[in-house]
Amino acid sequence: MVEKWVLDILACPACHAKVELVRDHWLVCQNAECRRKYPIRDDIPQMLIEEGDNYRDIAVEDLPAVS
Ligand SMILES: [Zn+2]
Repeated sequence: MVEKWVLDILACPACHAKVELVRDHWLVCQNAECRRKYPIRDDIPQMLIEEGDNYRDIAVEDLPAVS
């Protein structure tokens, strides 16, 4: 589980907007223009632009399970 204070300092690496935790395993950029989503694997947020790019066009509710 990612701690709340970690979420507070995390920002989207592409646009620097805040991210929101979704279903414990995704950090969703709150910038409607950006829409990148970053998976959390083994409690480590994968805050890479290339990673976020992979999920731009996937709706939040359609995000796959993260193992
Ligand atoms: Zn962003």
